[in-house]
Amino acid sequence: MNPQTTPAPPNRFITIDMHADTTQRLVDENIDLNSRLPNGHLDAVRMREGRLDAQFFAVWVEPQFYGTGGAQAVERADKQIAAVRSLAERHPETWMLATSAEDVRRAAAEGKLAALIGVEGGYAIDEKIESIERYYRAGVRYMSATWSVSLSWAGSSGDAVGQTRGLNDFGRAVIREMNRLGMIVDVSHVSDKTFWDIINTSTKPVIATHSGARAITNHSRNLDDEQLRALARTNGVACVVFYPAFIEPGWDEKKSQVDREIAPLLDEASRNAPGNPSQKRMARDRVREREFLRRLPPVSVARVADHIDHIVRVAGIDAVGLGSDFDGIQAVPRDLASVADYPNLAAELRKRGYNEADIAKIFGGNMLRVMEETQSR
Ligand SMILES: [Zn+2]
Repeated sequence: MNPQTTPAPPNRFITIDMHADTTQRLVDENIDLNSRLPNGHLDAVRMREGRLDAQFFAVWVEPQFYGTGGAQAVERADKQIAAVRSLAERHPETWMLATSAEDVRRAAAEGKLAALIGVEGGYAIDEKIESIERYYRAGVRYMSATWSVSLSWAGSSGDAVGQTRGLNDFGRAVIREMNRLGMIVDVSHVSDKTFWDIINTSTKPVIATHSGARAITNHSRNLDDEQLRALARTNGVACVVFYPAFIEPGWDEKKSQVDREIAPLLDEASRNAPGNPSQKRMARDRVREREFLRRLPPVSVARVADHIDHIVRVAGIDAVGLGSDFDGIQAVPRDLASVADYPNLAAELRKRGYNEADIAKIFGGNMLRVMEETQSR
């Protein structure tokens, strides 16, 4: 393209999504992310349509299938990291593996999509401090202590033991090692006790990659106002998730009821699906996606904007980002149904009085700042 004859697109800013589970699809479904996929929420074609410049791909080791540590968990993580890295290796004309804010800016300037790697849950470090540096060298730039299952060293919001468990000495050593390397600490999924232990341990900005505001939807996966302010004090960012169960009041309870009603359908899908436990889980999730759409009330992009508004009011415009959880959720807002729909969120924010500088911060500027501040010098 000739820059002299092609005007820059209006309102151009860098958009970064902090969390998508597409990685699982790369490994278990062998999808071609460069073509328009008939299902799921993310591919390169729709990223371009939605002007999504950079995607953090989550490396998620399902502890119920691969353990909370051990060789299987490590292998599962390594496979996912390799899958993300191979996007850029096989398709350098489309993808760039990015490990810094500078990389993200360079990819955007060159018209490439930035692929970044984050680890969801510390299961894959197998209780070894030296694993963290190995993952850092492989390109991992954030990690959460837990997913929905507690570890010996960190409590999760997703189980009973997590209610009273924070970080132990090893857990604090994990946070310090991440700080040292320049790997961002993610608090989405951890228990409240772990959250505060992280805040009191980390010397670098702390982020939530995919959570909402508890003041709007009282869910353990969301953050209360005190927590939002604490993140802001670290110079960190709360990235709003798009999953109706976390953002729409009452939706999660209705979803649980539907899950009970469709249990026989899910069992059947599981039985009929070939392959490993993750592939069977994906078959169940496809049924859930279909039935949730049919049986549950629709949610709109306005609800995502409500959470953004609240976090801006409580913690400031510099403390908000985006973390869709696309391809990891079985329901989406009807007008924010894939990465192609990001412009609908920008339009909703403009309608609410946000100017372009505000939107640029929310869509990516704040996270670029955190990445720069976190990088070890
Ligand atoms: Zn998650």
